[in-house]
Amino acid sequence: MTLTLGFHGAARTVTGSRYRLDTGGMRTVIDAGLFQGYKKLRKLNWRNVPFEADTVDQVVLTHAHIDHIGLLPRMVKNGFHGNVYTTGASIELARLLLKDSAKIHEEDAAYANKKGYSRHRPALPLYTSEDAEHAISLLKPVEYYQWLELSDNFKIRWQPAGHILGAASIEAHYQTAAKSCRVLFSGDIGRYDMPLHIDPKPRADCDVLICESTYGNREHDRSISVEDQLCEAIEGTIKLKGTVLIPAFAVGRTQQLTLILRRLMNSGKLPQVPLHLDSPMAVSATKIYGNHMDEHHLDEDVFADGREQLFPDMVTLHRTRDDSIALNNLRGPRIIISASGMLTGGRVLHHLARLVKKSKNTIIMAGYQAPGSRGRDLLEGKPTVKVHGREIPVKAEIRSLSGLSAHADRGELFKWLKSNKNKPEKVYLTHGEPESAFAFAREIQRELGWKAEVPNLDHKVKLIS
Ligand SMILES: [Zn+2]
Repeated sequence: MTLTLGFHGAARTVTGSRYRLDTGGMRTVIDAGLFQGYKKLRKLNWRNVPFEADTVDQVVLTHAHIDHIGLLPRMVKNGFHGNVYTTGASIELARLLLKDSAKIHEEDAAYANKKGYSRHRPALPLYTSEDAEHAISLLKPVEYYQWLELSDNFKIRWQPAGHILGAASIEAHYQTAAKSCRVLFSGDIGRYDMPLHIDPKPRADCDVLICESTYGNREHDRSISVEDQLCEAIEGTIKLKGTVLIPAFAVGRTQQLTLILRRLMNSGKLPQVPLHLDSPMAVSATKIYGNHMDEHHLDEDVFADGREQLFPDMVTLHRTRDDSIALNNLRGPRIIISASGMLTGGRVLHHLARLVKKSKNTIIMAGYQAPGSRGRDLLEGKPTVKVHGREIPVKAEIRSLSGLSAHADRGELFKWLKSNKNKPEKVYLTHGEPESAFAFAREIQRELGWKAEVPNLDHKVKLIS
């Protein structure tokens, strides 16, 4: 009876999380994430992994971010038809995110065909909305801490990891008459003492640990609180009767922002001004957060009666395109939160085009901005920004908001590792750029004396031979 672990994504990079655990005759895939970013990485989404999708018995998911679930419809397209297990909250978010992902792939293919720039004729989407719907139909909910017996000698359970709603680390136990092995997949580890999201729970016992290393060599800046940064960025604009535009990712980031703004306005640190949430996905994601406050709450007073408590008093939710367009005629002072977070597409662009050319307005970039994105260009001080084919002069104030990352930094990862006295025999560091993963491996060896390794893509290890 053997136990084999394969690393089929997020190896020396931060996206595409996917592992395979073979226990005797059973194949389990842990996470099915999309590779994102540079073209070289995105091409990996199309490759034939070293196993056939239809030979996989089940998939288990740590959380609903697309770099952990976004390849599921592709696996389904390639013949996978087993169960997909994850927490109930992750299922609700996955429904939203997988449908959106399929739509983006379909639109990209349609655009490539229109412009004729693809080598493939016709260009095909990585997967379709139908594939996503099929993948969604395979999702089965699990409870945190409850063992899921997948065979007589193999069981799995989920443990809260903070990070985003529904996120978990996954423990897998394999037991034969002669040997046993406990494998722990960290998933993405969240931060401690963050607004909205709970702290990661202490690490479970394990023999082998697969740990993320996104910020394995860096600490988050804690010199100014997010609240102070927001007040400083918003106050002046309100006085000038300008509009503050905050491009933000629809799931997690948007809800943190609306909650912080609610607290600032209710405590009088910011005046009560209208807040507009202009993103159908953000509105739906907020509803899902509201549905799961019992398992995810931090502050009982804030979550006392559900969804509305995530917002300041003067909030308007904009779902339809007409709702969004109606915003064009409203004067400041007001705050608009809209997606996408890096200004790469979506509704936020028409607000940007309108607001960026006036000096009384402020644009606040609320998360990581990838090189080449409009958000990064604005932060680097480019004098114009191109929106819908037009170059628009940048006159608005541009701010960056730090401190809302959903990922544990180096110190927080160590805190999580040390939260249990158990010493794993081996640690594999994944989900990090090489410099981060290798630096973290060295630190783990030096500080904890644990054996740590950074696997290559498709590396396989026999845990029981
Ligand atoms: Zn994540």
